Amino acid sequence: MKLPILLIILLAANASPVWSQTSRRSTPARNRTITSIVREIDARNIEATIRKLVSFGTRNTLSEQNDPKRGIGAARDWLYAEFLKASESSKGRMTVEKQSYEQQKAARVPQPTIVTNIVATLKGSQPESTERIYVVSGHYDSMCNTPVDAKCDAPGANDDASGTAAVLEMARVMAKYEFDATIVFMAVAGEEQSLLGSTHFAEQAKQKNWHIDAMFTNDIIGNTLGGNGVRDRGTVRVFSEGVPSNETPAEATTRRSVGGENDSPSRQLARFIKETSDANVPQMKVMMVYRRDRYGRGGDHIPFLERGYPAVRFTEVNEEFRHQHQNVRVENGVQFGDLPEFVDFAYVANVARVNAASLAALALAPSRPNGVVIVTARLSNDTELKWEANKEPDLAGYEIVWRDTTAAVWTNSKPVGNVTSITMKGMSKDNYFFGVRAIDREGNRSPVMYPKPQGRTQPATTPSTGL
Ligand SMILES: [Zn+2]
Repeated sequence: MKLPILLIILLAANASPVWSQTSRRSTPARNRTITSIVREIDARNIEATIRKLVSFGTRNTLSEQNDPKRGIGAARDWLYAEFLKASESSKGRMTVEKQSYEQQKAARVPQPTIVTNIVATLKGSQPESTERIYVVSGHYDSMCNTPVDAKCDAPGANDDASGTAAVLEMARVMAKYEFDATIVFMAVAGEEQSLLGSTHFAEQAKQKNWHIDAMFTNDIIGNTLGGNGVRDRGTVRVFSEGVPSNETPAEATTRRSVGGENDSPSRQLARFIKETSDANVPQMKVMMVYRRDRYGRGGDHIPFLERGYPAVRFTEVNEEFRHQHQNVRVENGVQFGDLPEFVDFAYVANVARVNAASLAALALAPSRPNGVVIVTARLSNDTELKWEANKEPDLAGYEIVWRDTTAAVWTNSKPVGNVTSITMKGMSKDNYFFGVRAIDREGNRSPVMYPKPQGRTQPATTPSTGL
């Protein structure tokens, strides 16, 4: 069979992008650590975890906390023991704790209830980076038709044993590797009761002034046959908000004037994940969705966003609502309920690989440059960018990235060496979006930092230079 000639041309064009003379497309280097981590993630472990979590009957946050076999307490204790086992290969760098608090009566909490997160912290090895934290999370609680039914069977195989199993597998694989920055692997409770566990963690972090540089939630990452009949085993959605949830009125004024609604830290994080995944997990396609979450739905990234921490949500592409938040039953020959037979374990493993590659890339890389500004004090056809020097000892320098204002992702990058300012001659800041990222001696790149304007952003009310 012959390929149509047009298709051959298209394929060839796709395989060799056009390189500009002054720049190149932004593609991260492959890193041996990341390659090993991606290879070691094992779908069989993920399947075993999901089946074990389902075996507790229900993991409703209001269910039994002291029964060793059934209810959320049994799941909590089993997860704690598994994360402890995972920590053994870390040589003391990974610590595991139960983070508990008493939730008072609330809309979905009829009586005061203990909510417990399992938190495994893999401490970063570089003194300059160890305070920089990346959080990856899944929720281990589940529900049937209603979140206040603590007795019904709520297997929660996909929502969200899938995310919990992915996080546990990442902890197991990554514990023996060293990273510059700190990674927190977390299984939270109370998600179905209104994001209780994640809110508690995020609020604690805020009060302790923790430097959380990114947060990923994995929630509903295991179904590959949608209610729309579409089977997709090779794509995962990454939801990121455009306008930061914690934007101030002054920041909103600037954004309305010069743009930036597509350049929040969370959006840069989504782009970073896509670039990292394309390079390291080629069997998976990251489908960036430029919104905070799905219509009428929420997740554990939201409490982080509200406190100013960049965060994204991972979810399968085609959901099957007959297997979410449903009592287990057969109706007119149709099986309802969130059962393990509807989870694609190999797909969950691939989503875990996208997460793990991205987390490793983040924690190996230098921090995003601080204090990045685009100088707007005078009108010019050049673009001047300035930033503060990074403090990591293995820093190699910086790259400028840019794209057309209508482009979805960064299309060009240029290494500029170990400097803290650059003027892009003949490139008007009015015609492109620019960003700066840091790069270390091994080629690990930080996410992009989008500059704040330094100087005028709005026309003067009595214009002297003309509008
Ligand atoms: Zn969920």
